[in-house]
Amino acid sequence: MDIIDENFSQDFHCLVYDNAPTHLKRTPTAPSAKKMTKNTPPVGKNWLVEVNMYDENGKQIYNSDGSYKKQHVQMSSSGFTEDGTPQSFYFEPGHEREGVFKGMAIILEERGFKGCVGRNGRLAECGDFSQGCVTAGQPDCCCRRMLYNEPDFVNVWPRLEEVANARGFAVLFLPKFHCELNFIEQCWGYAKRVYRTFPLTKKEDEMEKNIITALDSVPLETMRRCDVLDSRFRSL
Ligand SMILES: [Zn+2]
Repeated sequence: MDIIDENFSQDFHCLVYDNAPTHLKRTPTAPSAKKMTKNTPPVGKNWLVEVNMYDENGKQIYNSDGSYKKQHVQMSSSGFTEDGTPQSFYFEPGHEREGVFKGMAIILEERGFKGCVGRNGRLAECGDFSQGCVTAGQPDCCCRRMLYNEPDFVNVWPRLEEVANARGFAVLFLPKFHCELNFIEQCWGYAKRVYRTFPLTKKEDEMEKNIITALDSVPLETMRRCDVLDSRFRSL
């Protein structure tokens, strides 16, 4: 993105990525009901999200044993209570349990759903949850399903898309197992075909030279043609 901004800032850009899990990773503090507890944790305990720590330059911080240094932070919320006030998943300042996780039941009741809090309230998760709660056949069968269906839990974008959009770039994720839609694959194919025309060698330095020559041999015009072809597929 820095390179594009520096050299081609006058154009509109759409960044195309394949469906790799690293590209689709969400912000660790983004709303997720997967591990939330139904009730407020007991006194002295809290429910937070574990995230990696970074220094002021954005570099990951490591422990002396080489593992990632972690910290526990609040999960961020972009939802609203019943009266339209932005909602936090944690008790607000001034509350006797300030900063403590409210629990799914209270979060839902604040959003206007009844029958969640208490022993007789809805279950945290029904027995059919992993199958999509189809047995119950109701969107409000258990607390976790209800939060899963809330717009702020559904519309969580990958971190990559968030960063790109904030800088004015559009992002397109290609569907899985469709390398024909990815222009870089056509370029690899072109370079591989050129590489195969070189005499066989077992010397590493010659191989490296051949690889660089093969990669450099892909003409810009061919790259553009591949992308035009792929974008036609993508628009189907
Ligand atoms: Zn359920």
